Amino acid sequence: MPTFVRTDKCDGCKGQDKTACMYICPHDLMMLDKDGSETGHAMKAYNQEPEQCWECYSCVKICPQQAIEVRHYADIVPLGGTVQPLRGTDSIMWTIKFRNGTMKRFKFPIRTTPEGSIDPYAGKPAADMAKIEDIGFFNQENGFRAGDRSELINL
Ligand code: SF4
Ligand code: SF4
Repeated sequence: MPTFVRTDKCDGCKGQDKTACMYICPHDLMMLDKDGSETGHAMKAYNQEPEQCWECYSCVKICPQQAIEVRHYADIVPLGGTVQPLRGTDSIMWTIKFRNGTMKRFKFPIRTTPEGSIDPYAGKPAADMAKIEDIGFFNQENGFRAGDRSELINL
Protein backbone atom coordinates (compact mmCIF):
# COMPACT_ATOMS: atom_id res chain seq x y z
CA MET A 1 0.00 0.00 0.00
CA PRO A 2 2.43 2.64 -1.23
CA THR A 3 2.03 6.36 -1.29
CA PHE A 4 0.74 8.43 -4.14
CA VAL A 5 0.78 12.18 -4.66
CA ARG A 6 -2.35 14.14 -5.32
CA THR A 7 -1.31 16.45 -8.11
CA ASP A 8 -4.21 18.79 -7.37
CA LYS A 9 -2.69 19.53 -3.95
CA CYS A 10 1.10 19.22 -4.42
CA ASP A 11 2.84 22.54 -5.05
CA GLY A 12 6.30 21.03 -5.51
CA CYS A 13 7.28 22.61 -2.20
CA LYS A 14 7.42 25.87 -4.09
CA GLY A 15 10.32 24.81 -6.26
CA GLN A 16 12.87 24.18 -3.53
CA ASP A 17 15.81 21.99 -4.54
CA LYS A 18 14.76 19.28 -2.12
CA THR A 19 11.11 18.91 -1.31
CA ALA A 20 9.88 17.93 2.13
CA CYS A 21 8.91 14.44 0.94
CA MET A 22 12.32 13.92 -0.71
CA TYR A 23 14.04 15.06 2.48
CA ILE A 24 12.16 12.74 4.79
CA CYS A 25 11.80 9.49 2.81
CA PRO A 26 14.12 6.90 4.38
CA HIS A 27 14.17 4.97 1.12
CA ASP A 28 14.79 7.91 -1.25
CA LEU A 29 11.64 7.16 -3.19
CA MET A 30 10.13 10.57 -3.59
CA MET A 31 11.11 12.64 -6.61
CA LEU A 32 10.10 16.02 -7.96
CA ASP A 33 9.17 15.97 -11.64
CA LYS A 34 10.43 19.45 -12.43
CA ASP A 35 9.63 19.53 -16.13
CA GLY A 36 6.86 16.94 -16.21
CA SER A 37 8.87 14.56 -18.39
CA GLU A 38 8.43 11.63 -15.98
CA THR A 39 4.78 11.86 -15.07
CA GLY A 40 3.24 14.53 -17.26
CA HIS A 41 2.79 16.73 -14.18
CA ALA A 42 5.46 19.42 -13.97
CA MET A 43 6.58 20.55 -10.49
CA LYS A 44 4.72 17.72 -8.79
CA ALA A 45 6.28 15.03 -6.64
CA TYR A 46 5.87 11.33 -7.24
CA ASN A 47 6.85 8.02 -5.70
CA GLN A 48 9.40 6.66 -8.16
CA GLU A 49 9.20 3.04 -6.99
CA PRO A 50 5.91 2.31 -5.24
CA GLU A 51 6.70 -1.37 -4.71
CA GLN A 52 9.68 -0.35 -2.57
CA CYS A 53 7.62 1.89 -0.29
CA TRP A 54 7.85 1.03 3.41
CA GLU A 55 4.51 2.67 4.08
CA CYS A 56 6.18 4.45 6.96
CA TYR A 57 3.93 7.49 6.51
CA SER A 58 6.82 9.93 7.02
CA CYS A 59 6.16 11.73 3.73
CA VAL A 60 2.43 11.77 4.41
CA LYS A 61 2.99 13.46 7.75
CA ILE A 62 5.57 16.01 6.58
CA CYS A 63 3.86 17.19 3.41
CA PRO A 64 2.72 20.76 4.13
CA GLN A 65 -0.03 20.48 1.51
CA GLN A 66 -1.47 17.16 2.69
CA ALA A 67 -0.87 16.03 -0.87
CA ILE A 68 0.34 12.51 -0.16
CA GLU A 69 -1.97 9.62 0.52
CA VAL A 70 -1.43 5.91 1.02
CA ARG A 71 -3.20 3.11 -0.75
CA HIS A 72 -4.46 0.87 1.99
CA TYR A 73 -5.33 -2.77 1.93
CA ALA A 74 -8.98 -3.14 1.16
CA ASP A 75 -9.69 -4.93 4.43
CA ILE A 76 -8.23 -2.09 6.49
CA VAL A 77 -9.63 0.85 4.60
CA PRO A 78 -12.12 -0.16 1.91
CA LEU A 79 -11.75 1.29 -1.55
CA GLY A 80 -12.42 5.00 -1.50
CA GLY A 81 -11.48 5.49 2.14
CA THR A 82 -8.57 7.68 3.21
CA VAL A 83 -6.43 8.18 6.29
CA GLN A 84 -4.85 11.61 6.36
CA PRO A 85 -2.70 13.14 9.10
CA LEU A 86 -2.28 16.84 9.81
CA ARG A 87 0.83 17.38 11.90
CA GLY A 88 1.16 20.41 14.14
CA THR A 89 3.99 21.43 16.44
CA ASP A 90 2.55 19.64 19.44
CA SER A 91 -0.19 17.37 18.10
CA ILE A 92 -1.30 15.34 15.14
CA MET A 93 -4.83 15.03 13.86
CA TRP A 94 -5.91 12.02 11.83
CA THR A 95 -8.86 12.37 9.52
CA ILE A 96 -10.45 9.06 8.61
CA LYS A 97 -12.82 9.11 5.70
CA PHE A 98 -14.98 6.05 5.12
CA ARG A 99 -16.34 4.93 1.79
CA ASN A 100 -19.87 5.87 2.79
CA GLY A 101 -18.78 9.45 3.46
CA THR A 102 -18.53 9.14 7.24
CA MET A 103 -15.68 11.21 8.57
CA LYS A 104 -13.96 10.82 11.93
CA ARG A 105 -11.16 12.88 13.40
CA PHE A 106 -8.75 11.94 16.16
CA LYS A 107 -6.26 14.34 17.69
CA PHE A 108 -3.31 13.22 19.77
CA PRO A 109 -0.45 15.08 21.50
CA ILE A 110 2.91 14.15 19.98
CA ARG A 111 5.37 15.75 22.38
CA THR A 112 5.78 17.11 25.88
CA THR A 113 8.50 19.67 25.16
CA PRO A 114 8.50 22.64 22.77
CA GLU A 115 9.42 21.80 19.19
CA GLY A 116 13.13 22.37 18.56
CA SER A 117 14.08 22.29 22.24
CA ILE A 118 15.61 18.81 22.29
CA ASP A 119 19.39 18.63 22.74
CA PRO A 120 20.22 15.08 21.60
CA TYR A 121 23.75 15.20 23.08
CA ALA A 122 22.80 16.65 26.46
CA GLY A 123 24.55 14.82 29.28
CA LYS A 124 26.72 12.81 26.87
CA PRO A 125 30.51 13.14 26.87
CA ALA A 126 32.00 15.19 24.07
CA ALA A 127 33.35 13.03 21.26
CA ASP A 128 37.11 12.45 21.42
CA MET A 129 38.26 12.03 17.83
CA ALA A 130 41.52 10.46 19.01
CA LYS A 131 39.46 7.46 20.08
CA ILE A 132 37.58 7.13 16.83
CA GLU A 133 38.96 3.67 16.10
CA ASP A 134 38.45 2.29 19.60
CA ILE A 135 35.60 -0.16 20.01
CA GLY A 136 32.76 1.34 21.99
CA PHE A 137 34.64 4.52 22.85
CA PHE A 138 31.44 6.51 23.08
CA ASN A 139 29.46 4.30 25.44
CA GLN A 140 32.28 2.61 27.35
CA GLU A 141 31.55 4.63 30.46
CA ASN A 142 27.89 3.75 30.22
CA GLY A 143 28.02 0.01 30.39
CA PHE A 144 30.06 -1.22 27.44
CA ARG A 145 32.10 -4.32 28.15
CA ALA A 146 34.28 -6.47 25.99
CA GLY A 147 32.66 -9.39 24.23
CA ASP A 148 32.87 -12.88 25.76
CA ARG A 149 33.14 -15.68 23.20
CA SER A 150 31.67 -18.23 25.62
CA GLU A 151 28.39 -16.30 25.53
CA LEU A 152 27.95 -16.87 21.80
CA ILE A 153 25.45 -19.40 20.58
CA ASN A 154 27.37 -22.10 18.75
CA LEU A 155 25.23 -24.18 16.42
S1 SF4 B 1 6.09 17.45 0.36
FE1 SF4 B 1 3.99 17.52 -0.50
S2 SF4 B 1 3.85 19.52 -1.50
FE2 SF4 B 1 6.02 19.11 -1.17
S3 SF4 B 1 6.67 18.15 -3.12
FE3 SF4 B 1 6.15 16.49 -1.68
S4 SF4 B 1 4.00 16.00 -2.17
FE4 SF4 B 1 4.44 18.01 -3.05
S1 SF4 C 1 5.70 6.11 3.07
FE1 SF4 C 1 7.83 6.20 3.79
S2 SF4 C 1 8.97 4.85 2.40
FE2 SF4 C 1 7.00 5.30 1.39
S3 SF4 C 1 7.45 7.07 0.08
FE3 SF4 C 1 6.69 7.87 2.06
S4 SF4 C 1 8.53 8.30 3.30
FE4 SF4 C 1 9.13 6.95 1.58
